[in-house]
Amino acid sequence: MIDRYADEATRQNYLGKFNDMPRHQLDSKEISDLEMIACGAMSPLQGFMNSADYKSVVNDMHLSNGIAWSLPITLSASKEEADSVEEGRDIALVTDDGQFLAVLHLEEKFGYDKKEEAVKVFRTDDEAHPGVQYVYKQGEFLLGGKITMINRPKHDDFADYRKEPKETRALFEEKGWETVVAFQTRNPIHRAHEYLQKCALEMVDGLLIHPLVGDTKSDDISAEVRMKSYHVILKNYYPADRVSLTVFPAAMRYAGPREAIFHALVRKNYGCTHFIVGRDHAGVGSYYGTYDAQHIFREFTREELEITPLYFEHAFYCKACGNMASTKTCPHDKSNHVFLSGTKVREMLIRGEIPPKEFTRPEVAQVLIEGMK
Ligand code: ADP
Repeated sequence: MIDRYADEATRQNYLGKFNDMPRHQLDSKEISDLEMIACGAMSPLQGFMNSADYKSVVNDMHLSNGIAWSLPITLSASKEEADSVEEGRDIALVTDDGQFLAVLHLEEKFGYDKKEEAVKVFRTDDEAHPGVQYVYKQGEFLLGGKITMINRPKHDDFADYRKEPKETRALFEEKGWETVVAFQTRNPIHRAHEYLQKCALEMVDGLLIHPLVGDTKSDDISAEVRMKSYHVILKNYYPADRVSLTVFPAAMRYAGPREAIFHALVRKNYGCTHFIVGRDHAGVGSYYGTYDAQHIFREFTREELEITPLYFEHAFYCKACGNMASTKTCPHDKSNHVFLSGTKVREMLIRGEIPPKEFTRPEVAQVLIEGMK
């Protein structure tokens, strides 16, 4: 696994040079990416992509050396900034308040085609798509090269739940879990999520609930409120010795199918053997087909992904069955199914109403109602 943390001598050396180095300020998504590169969550990446890897990933979902990788991991810069830095030199990567985080060993600066990236990665060039919007706002150049982490980004939130791949791997070993299924989410855990997780847990040793806590759309429920909701549902409805909760520092791209592959590859690095992919994984609006994020796995061999996807059909509570089910297991028509759209649920919670217990656990609803005040 990749480890891009500076040793103490290197760190002191760069701290001494910091004032004379060109600086590049990172936004919060880039800081999330940097953190994940440094700790090996993005192995085999050792830095931000150069043009060969960028093009190969955008066109073919593999790095230039043939290893599977589905999303560009890039660092953008304006033309003026790109003009002012020299290939082969070191650049200090800093936060908006000037904190020195890492060194970029600039290998290459290059122009790129944003529209092509949008169409190939997001399957749309619609500026209303949040991931496309982000790409369109980026600088016109990309800076590629390995990184060396000097100071880890400071986080005041979820300190006890920020576990790097080497820590989650050690945790699984300590618990004696040989098979571990990861659950990616940017939402509170509703009954459908719980059903997927528990079906999976019937087949494997452990469950890693791995909520994404990097940037999300402004109308997604905040990570802080979600974390509270995870604590209450875990306490009341999950076996403590079979489940682990740690946070995933990534930002959402809403790239649907390509992001599902990325989510799986990264969870392999965290030591998971299985990964849940349900309906419209990492999707937004109606840009992707309900099961596109499952179909894309066919474009890779099992050997190259080294993690087993577990697919789930759309899950719901069926009043006629009297339990959670999916289109795969339930013979009854839709009138028996408890289904609420995200918008409907949000409206109910804002009004302080608890959604049906078949949709969400009342304890979770209570936390969400509090969080919306
Ligand atoms: P994300 O957008 O990151 O995929 P979500 O919280 O929306 O996060 O979904 C988490 C996982 O649960 C995804 O794999 C998604 O496909 C799956 N999922 C969510 N709701 C359902 C459902 N009702 N039926 C089946 N799968 C679902």
